[in-house]
Amino acid sequence: MTSTNDIRRSFLDYFGSTGHRVVPSAPLVPQNDPTLMFVNAGMVPFKNVFTGLETRPYSTAASSQKCVRAGGKHNDLDNVGYTARHHTFFEMLGNFSFGDYFKERAITHAWTLITKEWGIDPNRLTATVYHTDDEAFDLWKKIAGLPESRIIRIPTKDNFWAMGDNGPCGPCSEIFFDHGDHIPGGPPGSPDEDGDRFVEIWNLVFMQYEQENNEIVRDLPKPSIDTGMGLERIAAVLQGVHDNYDTDTFKALIASSGEFTKTETTGARQASHRVIADHLRTSGFLVADGVLPANEGRGYVLRRIMRRAMRHAHILGASEPLMHRLVPALVAEMGAAYPELVRAQPLIEETLKLEETRFRQTLDKGLRLLDEATGSMKEGDTLPGDVAFKLYDTYGFPYDLTEDALRSQGLEVDRSGFDAAMAEQKAAARAAWKGSGQKASEDVWFDIAEEFGSTEFTGYSGHEGEGQL
Ligand code: ATP
Ligand code: MG
Ligand code: MG
Ligand code: MG
Repeated sequence: MTSTNDIRRSFLDYFGSTGHRVVPSAPLVPQNDPTLMFVNAGMVPFKNVFTGLETRPYSTAASSQKCVRAGGKHNDLDNVGYTARHHTFFEMLGNFSFGDYFKERAITHAWTLITKEWGIDPNRLTATVYHTDDEAFDLWKKIAGLPESRIIRIPTKDNFWAMGDNGPCGPCSEIFFDHGDHIPGGPPGSPDEDGDRFVEIWNLVFMQYEQENNEIVRDLPKPSIDTGMGLERIAAVLQGVHDNYDTDTFKALIASSGEFTKTETTGARQASHRVIADHLRTSGFLVADGVLPANEGRGYVLRRIMRRAMRHAHILGASEPLMHRLVPALVAEMGAAYPELVRAQPLIEETLKLEETRFRQTLDKGLRLLDEATGSMKEGDTLPGDVAFKLYDTYGFPYDLTEDALRSQGLEVDRSGFDAAMAEQKAAARAAWKGSGQKASEDVWFDIAEEFGSTEFTGYSGHEGEGQL
């Protein structure tokens, strides 16, 4: 079996040997883009190169970029544990051309790597193109020999990429792997495309136009290429498993949580183990890149992720903090590729232990309150927003943790009621400050806190998601 570490290596070697500069992953906290919470695609560190603001001593590159999609437009948090293909942290393998080669070579490289180097059966592959992109359609026929029935024209934004309202944009082409008809789901473009049978493995973006105010105004003088392939998804394909969580890396992490909790990792416990393994990676990598749990901004996203994992540890019956004990397994799996993980290991362990110790002090009581509140509810009912707020405010339950906790019973949470309770508390706090005779500066602080939200980072501007492929 080819390990995930070997697959990463093989990807970078292939592109290195075809003239690409192999570039290390950038940190998860964006270095050049304050509108983005976390790097969420391989192209993010190259944004200024694509727009021409920055030049590099190479015109083609390849990387394995750490990505987090746990907020804003690209929020895969709720999918984790429930789909075979989504993580909050994942690695995006990508090759890039900055005005160098274009469509033909991009498709040739992708096809050569997956079918020739890696030997994936071409009969299980389907490509999509943007509905007007005849050029890409013809190239898939010519280069890959795909029958027309497996080159699907998609008219939606899924196959048209843009870097915000201004800047480069263009059609994209995605490669899907068919995991077989024993898995529910339809081909791309069909009504049940969101199933897990046809899994998108690679997205090739053809930057060829320039937009101004959301309108295409001209052809780019030098078209560019941006691609992204999920390492965990291609690892599943190459390891002959359907599910990302059955690949070597995840199996090792899940074995570790099974061992420490002395629980089965399948059946009813499966989702909890998967959430824990996923969130362990996200927590570990975020801490290694300098993010610590906090009540706002990036740190709050991290706290939410940690606490969600900790609730699942509780479900598994962990009688003492669990997450920090799994860090050695994470470092063993990924430390060679990401030395920052090794360097930060003590900090990651300390941080997880402290957070879990604290959270456990209120977790039990909060869950009891939740049980009482939902005792007489039935599927389809909604938990009142003020209960969710009390859980948040008194017991430290992030909103989405409450949502996640109710999901298996088919219960929902009244989000607007929660928001209203939050707003009310802020107004009360503000009035109290005013009454205390403090100077105007505190008023300013509350204005800012209200505008930007002290608990939910809203730093995603209208351009949020620019990094998406
Ligand atoms: P999907 O439609 O499956 O959610 P996507 O279209 O949102 O994927 P892209 O933005 O095109 O994904 O990202 C490029 C590649 O990164 C995808 O083809 C996929 O292989 C991988 N990828 C995207 N999101 C995730 C995720 N949450 N977990 C693991 N891999 C992902
Ligand atoms: Mg997605
Ligand atoms: Mg997609
Ligand atoms: Mg895509």
